[in-house]
Amino acid sequence: SLTTADVVAAVTRFGAVVTENRQYLIDLDSAIGDADHGENMARGLAAALEALAAEPPASPADALKAVATTLIRKVGGASGPLYGTAFLRASTAVAGKDQLGAEDVVALLVAARDGIVSRGKAEPGDKTMVDAWTPAVEAAQAALDGGGDVSAVLAAASAAAQDGAAATVPLVARKGRASYLGERSAGHQDPGATSTAMLFAAFASVAG
Ligand code: ADP
Ligand code: MG
Ligand code: MG
Repeated sequence: SLTTADVVAAVTRFGAVVTENRQYLIDLDSAIGDADHGENMARGLAAALEALAAEPPASPADALKAVATTLIRKVGGASGPLYGTAFLRASTAVAGKDQLGAEDVVALLVAARDGIVSRGKAEPGDKTMVDAWTPAVEAAQAALDGGGDVSAVLAAASAAAQDGAAATVPLVARKGRASYLGERSAGHQDPGATSTAMLFAAFASVAG
């Protein structure tokens, strides 16, 4: 199961991977957006890690909530409120739990994805982070249904998120800044789907 320390470790890993790939995410966003996704995420996650260090969370829900409020406060643009909502809904889904089992992790992921969809109104195929989140949540649910533990659930989710991000390349964007490009958005991987794949890889790495 995932402890509070595991959640903090996963967010730390996510921050490190985003920082390592800051320029890559900027390059993806410069092709179909405004070239700030790597900067937005790196700055927001650095602030979230500072908040977690300044006030160590007492539960997984506390940790997720601290990340949510920091991202909402520090990250402008589409991704701040969307990731912020995801972490906030995830926090609420596991309120009061000391450790997260496989069912808790799936519940948290479903809540997070639903939060992103209700906030951003994107559907699968619109070339957004939803194209990584939705297959990840479905794979997590399938792994749970097959008797998988937390590590199996997160490994399945991570693999599906990577595939989902890669599958955004040929899509034409229908939400967010990339949609302003119309057909010209095809041929580029969506930045938010790419950072989502990094998020899932980070959680899978602490659970594995
Ligand atoms: P901005 O586009 O405001 O500069 P970012 O560059 O940080 O914000 O984030 C862009 C990413 O946000 C996109 O690549 C896409 O994945 C995601 N995104 C944008 N609009 C939506 C939406 N309505 N629903 C879901 N995801 C969205
Ligand atoms: Mg941008
Ligand atoms: Mg922007």
